[in-house]
Amino acid sequence: MDEGEKNDDVEDFFASPKIDNDNEEAFIVESLTACTDCHKLHNVKDIIAYKEEGKVAIMNCPYKEYPNNPISSRNHQCNNSLSILKKNKNATIAVPRMLYPKPNIHQQLSILYQRPDFENMLKLSGIQKNENNIYSDIYNGKVWKNFPFDGSTFFTTETATTHLGLLLNLDWFQPFSYTQHSTSAIYVSICNLPRVGTH
Ligand SMILES: [Zn+2]
Repeated sequence: MDEGEKNDDVEDFFASPKIDNDNEEAFIVESLTACTDCHKLHNVKDIIAYKEEGKVAIMNCPYKEYPNNPISSRNHQCNNSLSILKKNKNATIAVPRMLYPKPNIHQQLSILYQRPDFENMLKLSGIQKNENNIYSDIYNGKVWKNFPFDGSTFFTTETATTHLGLLLNLDWFQPFSYTQHSTSAIYVSICNLPRVGTH
């Protein structure tokens, strides 16, 4: 960090998560700052460390809708403010206006692998079933059978417990009647698992 006003407290609060060794299943969530206008995600550290003329300042959203337009007035930079300034002890700190929690995928997978039957479920996954021309799941399809990796096939019986097929899903829905508000859910499913344990 640059010299100047100290904002260690807010840095600690939003800093990258630390693993709690006493509790390996501690749920680690990283946070990103979301623009309240265009919804672009930004690094929290950049927002709280942003300064103008050596002083903590509000950072405006740099997202450009048309970044390649040579006329700057037509690249539609968002410019929405990403933080508010607050007094903390004797210093001014920039607090992000909206945070977007992002679970840590490494840790989530680690938690799944520690479940007693997880690897057994992977071993029993579709690659061992070869029912005659019946397409009942993703692993009966050509893409799954031929998915290439380093000159060989990615999904095989030998790699059933280590090569995971992750499917990223995004869906929007309107939770309230008579309003324009929409919410979306983003989730990842593990295609290797039997359908009952996929999500
Ligand atoms: Zn924006």
